[in-house]
Amino acid sequence: MPEPDTTVHDVVIVGAGPAGLTAGLYASRGRLDTVILERNMAGGQIALTELVENYPGFPEGISGFDLSEKMKEQAKEFGADLREIQAVTGLERDPEAGCWTVITDQGPVRARSVILAPGREPRRSGIPGEAEFIGRGVSWCATCDGALYRGRTVAVVGGGDAAVEEGMFLTKFADKVYLVHRRDELRAQPIAQERCFANDKFELVWDSVPRRIDGDQMVEALEVENVKTGEMRSLPVNGVFMYIGQIPNTDWLKGVVELDESGYIVTDQLLRTSQAGVYACGDAHLNQLKQIVIATGEGALAAVQTEKYLDELACALPGAENAAGGSAAASA
Ligand SMILES: Cc1cc2nc3c(=O)[nH]c(=O)nc-3n(C[C@H](O)[C@H](O)[C@H](O)COP(=O)(O)OP(=O)(O)OC[C@H]3O[C@@H](n4cnc5c(N)ncnc54)[C@H](O)[C@@H]3O)c2cc1C
Repeated sequence: MPEPDTTVHDVVIVGAGPAGLTAGLYASRGRLDTVILERNMAGGQIALTELVENYPGFPEGISGFDLSEKMKEQAKEFGADLREIQAVTGLERDPEAGCWTVITDQGPVRARSVILAPGREPRRSGIPGEAEFIGRGVSWCATCDGALYRGRTVAVVGGGDAAVEEGMFLTKFADKVYLVHRRDELRAQPIAQERCFANDKFELVWDSVPRRIDGDQMVEALEVENVKTGEMRSLPVNGVFMYIGQIPNTDWLKGVVELDESGYIVTDQLLRTSQAGVYACGDAHLNQLKQIVIATGEGALAAVQTEKYLDELACALPGAENAAGGSAAASA
């Protein structure tokens, strides 16, 4: 357990994915006393992505891990205090001190403003066998676990970009990849679809949904149902990779900031949440496109808006002329 943190920081950022790391870069470069709290290792979803081909500046593509490492180094370079393996569990306003208390599994961290960037995590299907076989054939991360399936057969469930791209990655190892999709056409981008259709390691299982994962010690089969005919089919597989959507990591924010019915954080165009001094950015926020380029853009905007908010707050305080030049000064 680290020493208690008694400082009131300028800003605490929750989450160190592309959104949080970019917010951290802009906030610390703007000379804000910036703490980034991350429950795992920094990087977010892209750290587990094999290849990113659509982030500008990398015409050959870049591994998700390398890109996230670069973002992390850049944020730290300007002074952001990145604290990994520290999970945030709550957020409370302290009206007397005029600041926010970010509750974590290692004690509270206080700040005059907060940027929420907790991103999303894979949706569970809830079918029998899914929970039982986690780590024994059920996975949500082809990049992490794909090499375990060299020469074997796997099923990928889903029809969006993540399913097709991760399925493509699995074809490097597996002899055969069933792509199980509940419709009769994919939702993935055309370029990903073309690659998938051209790869003879794929077998597309259309109009089908997973019903049960079977096995003894390890996964041995995935039972799927054809939603048009009702016919059941048992796919002989050693691994099942689920890409059936994502849910925002916002349970701990219920009743604190406004969320929509799916749990996404509601903001205005300037990324202000329903609470003054609390901003949100990236995949956990209600936006139209869940991509790195959007997450980083929003991270930058959230940090700049936070800076303005703190400047205005400083102007409203007694002794404003002292605080305006260095916002951290007002926080002690
Ligand atoms: C398989 C896959 C492939 C993808 N490929 C691409 C691609 O090629 N190009 C592209 O542009 N996009 C891609 N994406 C989408 C992209 O990864 C996301 O849009 C982007 O990562 C969103 O960034 P974020 O910072 O908002 O959230 P995330 O990346 O989800 O990061 C959020 C971070 O917050 C942390 N966190 C959550 N809750 C807490 C808490 N309570 N306390 C502390 N920390 C917390 C998480 O651990 C995580 O590190 C892909 C996504 C997936 C799943």
